[in-house]
Amino acid sequence: MVSLLANIGIIFMAMYIYLRFKSGLPNQDKTKVSDLIRCTLFEVLLGIVLLSFSTVILGIRYDFRVLLFVFSAKYMNWKITSSSILLLGIIRFVWGSNDIAQINLIVSVLMAVTLPVIVNYTNGRLNDLTQLLVLVTYSLCPAILLTNHMIADKSLVLSISLILFASGYAATFFMHYFISDLNSLIVSANTDHLTALKNVRTFNNDLMGVEWVRNPVTLAVIDIDYFKDYNDSFGHDSGDAILKQMADVFNKLVTPDTAFYRIGGEEFALIIDNPNPIEAQAFVYDLQEMVAHKRFFIPSGESISITISVGVAHSRAGETLKKTLKRADLALYKAKKSGRNKVIVSYPH
Ligand code: GH3
Ligand code: MG
Ligand code: MG
Repeated sequence: MVSLLANIGIIFMAMYIYLRFKSGLPNQDKTKVSDLIRCTLFEVLLGIVLLSFSTVILGIRYDFRVLLFVFSAKYMNWKITSSSILLLGIIRFVWGSNDIAQINLIVSVLMAVTLPVIVNYTNGRLNDLTQLLVLVTYSLCPAILLTNHMIADKSLVLSISLILFASGYAATFFMHYFISDLNSLIVSANTDHLTALKNVRTFNNDLMGVEWVRNPVTLAVIDIDYFKDYNDSFGHDSGDAILKQMADVFNKLVTPDTAFYRIGGEEFALIIDNPNPIEAQAFVYDLQEMVAHKRFFIPSGESISITISVGVAHSRAGETLKKTLKRADLALYKAKKSGRNKVIVSYPH
């Protein structure tokens, strides 16, 4: 019982770490391969910790790896969940290749295939809590069946089953509310309320993250031209509508390697995680052209055109990203000075 509680505590901590470091729930379609590998290894490591906190009753090992996988399949990415289940099944098999480890491996393969399918099928059909309870019930069944098969004393089987289901359901219930509350707090702290783009706080955090992994990146600072005039001519509401439509253009261009941020009133930033500066630059030129050709609609129904000026800087070896950002800002200033509606790249890179 104590070890099951330890398991639940560890899973709570894992979910906290996941949410805290991923700034809200990751976009399932736009996860980078390196993130997938990192999260899978994190989950496998947690699985091993859970195994080491397991209780052995008459040769059967009881732990709550299933809870970890159920929450991972629901909130992370099925590729992470399936890979971790399989890897952990193999580790467990190599570690102690007895009958139970063999059954465990077969169950792992079945789980890796079926869990994501059930999550996808029940998504939207059931509310989140019901969906999680169904998944936990399904995932606990192999353990209960194995207990029934291996342990002759049926009253012991009943007690173990009751403890597993009761603690599994209670943990699911609390973890569900914990995750949804924490996630909405994290999302609102990191998101700009008007445009739903990432905010300046996230921008600074992400810059620190990029600095940490030392990937070559391209930074761009984007500023809307003559925005004050639009506000003065059409009103503040129209200005807001333009900002939202600008964010829509940016959101459509988001990829796993590009992130847009609103860092000021009508100022945006872009981090392009691409080692090829020419490609990154081309992306910015396309973006500027796209905005220049788009029609923006203001609440009166009128359509207007808007232009942006952009300063770009590629990171250099031995230069802090703060300095790179300064160069991008300087390039933006030059773009403004030399007539606006253009991209200026800070050279040499
Ligand atoms: P420039 O081409 O030199 O960038 O000219 P500009 O008029 O865009 O530059 P300036 O920095 O003077 O004006 C920015 C304006 O953006 C001032 C402010 O009224 C407006 N603004 C800032 N935040 C918001 C907002 O959230 N909503 C609206 N509607 N306007 C905003
Ligand atoms: Mg400005
Ligand atoms: Mg401006």
